[in-house]
Amino acid sequence: MNENSRPFKPFEPLVERIKKDGICLDGGILKVDSFINHQIDPTFLQSMSIEFVRRFANKEINKILTIEASGIAPAILVGFLLNVPVVFAKKKKPSTMGNMLTTEVFSFTKNKAYTVCCSKDFLHKGDKVLFVDDFLANGNAAKGIIDLVEQAGAELAGMGFIIEKSFQHGGEKLREMGLQVESLAIIDSLDNCEIKFKEAEV
Ligand code: 5GP
Repeated sequence: MNENSRPFKPFEPLVERIKKDGICLDGGILKVDSFINHQIDPTFLQSMSIEFVRRFANKEINKILTIEASGIAPAILVGFLLNVPVVFAKKKKPSTMGNMLTTEVFSFTKNKAYTVCCSKDFLHKGDKVLFVDDFLANGNAAKGIIDLVEQAGAELAGMGFIIEKSFQHGGEKLREMGLQVESLAIIDSLDNCEIKFKEAEV
């Protein structure tokens, strides 16, 4: 344990919501389209954002960073609560934008690599960044973000995920790097399409 690691505690309303509305697909994918990824429940997202703010209260944060598209909604709510700007890294380099930081990310759900970019105008030295995303699986998106933050000379204050799938080990790798990683629910297994949640640690 270091200053960035604390015993895991699930955000119980999320566990209950996943039990009620989550759909398990083949290949270790959880579908939460009815409240996060397609239809969005803003009141519920707000309650999760309050939990993120509580968990990162120990950190100084002046910017929220996410990746389009599914991270944007939770990131905006956290940014709103902290009254800081929200930047989303883009998955396609806009032709109108020079002055970019870029990195490669392998997508587990789409099974291909893509370029993620962010304007140097919105991520720079001295920024204290909280990354917020919907899912943490293998940690590829997170690693891309770490690369962008390093290129910018900014500082990563922490990483917050709504749902972490521990069986894909991204969280393990990020925590080994000494980062504060907060996941509101951790799923240990989706084998046989049965959702097994990680219990609270004492
Ligand atoms: P990673 O880069 O950690 O391997 O995967 C994280 C990204 O893949 C997330 O931003 C999310 O969009 C997507 N993802 C990974 N696993 C799942 C899943 O089980 N369900 C959904 N809906 N998206 C996922």
